[in-house]
Amino acid sequence: MKSKLWGAGLIAGAAYVAYDRLRKRTPLEGSYADAPTKILIVGGGFGGLAAARELTRTLGGSEDVGVALLDQVNYTTFWPMVPSVIPRNVEVRHVAHSIRRIFAPLGVEFFQEKVTGVNFEAHEAKTDNGSFPYDYLILAPGSRTAFFGTPGAEENAIDIKSLRNALRVRGHVIDRFEEAERLRGELPEGLLTFVFVGGGATGVEAVADTHDLIFDVLKADYPNVDFGEVRLVLVNASDHILQGIDPSLMHAATRRLASQRVEVINNAKAREVRPEAVVLSDGRTIPARTTVWAAGIEPSPLVKSLDVVKDHRGRILVDEFLSVKGRAGVYAAGDCISIDRDGPPVPALAQAAEQEGKRAALNLAAEIKGEAPVPFRYRSLGQLVDLGEGSALIDILGARTSGRIGALIWRGIYLYELGYNLNRAQVLADWIIDLFARPDTYKLFEDGDSPTTAGG
Ligand SMILES: Cc1cc2nc3c(=O)[nH]c(=O)nc-3n(C[C@H](O)[C@H](O)[C@H](O)COP(=O)(O)OP(=O)(O)OC[C@H]3O[C@@H](n4cnc5c(N)ncnc54)[C@H](O)[C@@H]3O)c2cc1C
Repeated sequence: MKSKLWGAGLIAGAAYVAYDRLRKRTPLEGSYADAPTKILIVGGGFGGLAAARELTRTLGGSEDVGVALLDQVNYTTFWPMVPSVIPRNVEVRHVAHSIRRIFAPLGVEFFQEKVTGVNFEAHEAKTDNGSFPYDYLILAPGSRTAFFGTPGAEENAIDIKSLRNALRVRGHVIDRFEEAERLRGELPEGLLTFVFVGGGATGVEAVADTHDLIFDVLKADYPNVDFGEVRLVLVNASDHILQGIDPSLMHAATRRLASQRVEVINNAKAREVRPEAVVLSDGRTIPARTTVWAAGIEPSPLVKSLDVVKDHRGRILVDEFLSVKGRAGVYAAGDCISIDRDGPPVPALAQAAEQEGKRAALNLAAEIKGEAPVPFRYRSLGQLVDLGEGSALIDILGARTSGRIGALIWRGIYLYELGYNLNRAQVLADWIIDLFARPDTYKLFEDGDSPTTAGG
């Protein structure tokens, strides 16, 4: 089966390369510093990059417009594959891509800067290194993990809303087994208990991938550890996991987690996270030395500082054209926005951020050209959830499947969506290597490990 997964990935990759060649864009000719019209984008994630690409497609060849993007890091992260970093089915570096490389053929400029605020009257984005002027602005700084004020959560739990933290989860789990191997006999309570808070897609993927790390990768390396003592617990606030996903797939996921001996605790919230235990709202206390937090998101600190109209969750309120209310020439896209209109809310997903980034860029270009803007319409393409060990849930435009077929489709689609040929080749190589060898279990330069102590 693994060789079939590999074959499908290869075909998907080759098909994309051919498609990519056919849709080369004309780059923007104007420079951001000198062009009479300056467009600034804040955030190089799914929303910001989609906006930059659409601006190039719409305004490409123009010398009157200069576009620059600011991001606090110089890479973009392919979040759907981040949980795969935990068992190291995919190498961490292979799910990140240099923003500078992406922009070279587009004529968009990139500056690695953390935006600390926006002066809407002066039309400037502020950073510690100075200000960046704009005529038009697209805000797409994403979100961060919400701990909802839960005592001890921020200090004692690890969230996986960064590549570094996905590695920290991996490193933390490995450390627990190093300790168990050293102690051999009686283990401290909760040493091999791993609690995951949040029954959405990210929490489910994280617990499934941690199961793979423990039972597929680590088991053979720790002969004196009783793996029967391992306890994986998923704490979920509602009455079932994966809210919003089709019930048949939710049941498939529940069965899958049960077969992996993952205990799912529904209708419970984490009330407190201690270094050695998690206290639940139903009164239970679970002794655990490892807690992973995937319970929700909130707007980034930049959004909190902005003087714009916000919704009850602190997200930027935009109109149906994705224009920021009361701020002419300013648009926003991605996890940081709430659209002020009737109808179901748009989910905080990569596909939504991409669609919003495109629409914001098109409406901005229409404003420059004196054309009418078009309202944003979200088209859900479906949902994909990785369940580890060659299994995934697939719901694409109403066509649903799970298990190994699901994993095959998951790999094909995300290899395509990964977007950059170098990353595709690297991830494909990771999957091929995974057919023949267990990922290594070393921890290099992680979790306080210095290059010196690690021998590097
Ligand atoms: C672990 C994980 C797995 C996920 N899996 C999936 C999935 O399978 N499918 C799916 O559809 N969605 C998934 N998501 C959700 C998806 O990643 C987000 O909805 C999407 O990334 C939102 O896009 P965005 O552009 O708003 O933000 P992001 O993609 O997060 O990009 C925001 C960018 O802004 C930058 N930034 C932030 N603040 C500043 C600042 N002050 N100055 C400069 N730059 C700044 C950040 O560095 C970042 O590059 C996942 C999320 C996580 C965390």
